[in-house]
Amino acid sequence: MQLFEDQDIKPYVPIARKYRPKLFSDIIGQDPIVELLKSAIRTNRVHHSILFTGTRGVGKTTMARILAKSINCLNRKEGESEPCNTCRSCISISEARNQDVIEIDAASNTSVTDVRVIIDNSLYRPVDSKYKVYIIDEVHMLSTSAFNALLKIIEEPPVHIKFILATTEYNKIPKTILSRCFKLFLGFVPIDVLQQYCRHILQMEGCSSDDLALKIIARSAQGSARDALSILDQAIILGNMNVTTSVVSHMLYFHNLELIWEIFSSISKGDVESAINNVESCCNGGMPPITVLSLLTNFVHCASQFLLNKENFDFEEIIRANSDTLKNIDFTFILRSWQVLMKGFEDMRYSPSQLQALEMLIIKLCYLNEKITPQDMLEQHEESNIPKTTKICTKTHTQNHTVEAEQQRIKSSTITCIGDILELLYANKELNLYNVFYHKIYIMDLSTSRLLISYDRNEVTSASIESLQNVLTKLTGLNIEISEYNNLARSVHEVLNEEKIKKKVK
Ligand SMILES: [Zn+2]
Repeated sequence: MQLFEDQDIKPYVPIARKYRPKLFSDIIGQDPIVELLKSAIRTNRVHHSILFTGTRGVGKTTMARILAKSINCLNRKEGESEPCNTCRSCISISEARNQDVIEIDAASNTSVTDVRVIIDNSLYRPVDSKYKVYIIDEVHMLSTSAFNALLKIIEEPPVHIKFILATTEYNKIPKTILSRCFKLFLGFVPIDVLQQYCRHILQMEGCSSDDLALKIIARSAQGSARDALSILDQAIILGNMNVTTSVVSHMLYFHNLELIWEIFSSISKGDVESAINNVESCCNGGMPPITVLSLLTNFVHCASQFLLNKENFDFEEIIRANSDTLKNIDFTFILRSWQVLMKGFEDMRYSPSQLQALEMLIIKLCYLNEKITPQDMLEQHEESNIPKTTKICTKTHTQNHTVEAEQQRIKSSTITCIGDILELLYANKELNLYNVFYHKIYIMDLSTSRLLISYDRNEVTSASIESLQNVLTKLTGLNIEISEYNNLARSVHEVLNEEKIKKKVK
């Protein structure tokens, strides 16, 4: 006895499959490639080996199927390029049961034996179609020997054969194969095209939506039509047929953008504690560490766009609201943050705990800001007993000094301590010499007119010392004298510590 009648089950078809393009004219965002293919079909100049390449979900396999349908369509007249989708050939290809159009997933058929089967079968003429078409998806997954076996047949296939290869990883295809194929590069689908496409599909589904929600979806899809539709699918279910900004924001964690700004802002101030607290808030709110990292990376990119006076980017509202703070952020800091964040994705992949990897990355970013000198860190360490709010205030105060003002302030006073010299080097952007001075130089004596230093010849080149001597003479007006190292010499770090203690006693 059958418990359920088949009619009781209403099949659910994901949007991406339901609205999969059936004609070339349905394909979005790939106009030049579509025109080229249509023209090739119209003029009967379809190459025997075509390679589609591009990121995921831009229409590689879809285009391959439409192409296969079109060249085999029984109703297509001369000079036309679209398949009819009604003849027995078109229908059987759409239903994946046409024995002359063979789709192979190279990811699960990687061996040379799999390719030999293709080669052996290709010698037979098509059963019921004009052409026998092999669509090999993810072709980069084939083994080297499999590629070698494929080489000969791809170069000179029998006239009744067409090979259509598709890959997301163009670089992994051997050059010998590439040179024998007609290569078609599919680009990212533009955001406005995706947005329009989503709107159209929602109308067909009878759902309501708002513009910002669609914009967020289109941006999150990163140029992939399939990704956009899969996000749309979730949003329809979550919003109960209403795809609103609030639904989409919650689904993609965009309601937490304020926290991402807080993290970035703390990082730029070098405030580790606050940055880590905000990361914890994000993760406790259910946001996976990898999403925090992605959003932070996105934010840094948006900040760069803002500094370059570009328009139209994510986080726009938050960035405009904090524009005054952002304008004071150094572009080099943005660039260095970007590099560390990129490395962060790799770290996270190999780390046993994603959260730990994220926290360590955030700490690293906090120490990136070159405006924070070792002296600042010492201060921060000593002020750790002072209540947090005061600490943040002092920090912001020093941050707001422009380099020029800092330079002016120091120049106008005389050099009284080693800390002044470090600040002066820093303010004049002599970062290399700053490092040399801080790490490699030993202090013998500092008076109102001269600075006596020494160094280890194995650690510093004489060229560095010469340059340090010249720059310091110019900047400080002191007599810079170099002496042989003896046991009176103390490291800069040591002297700085003493200077701090002296200041406190006063
Ligand atoms: Zn047809």
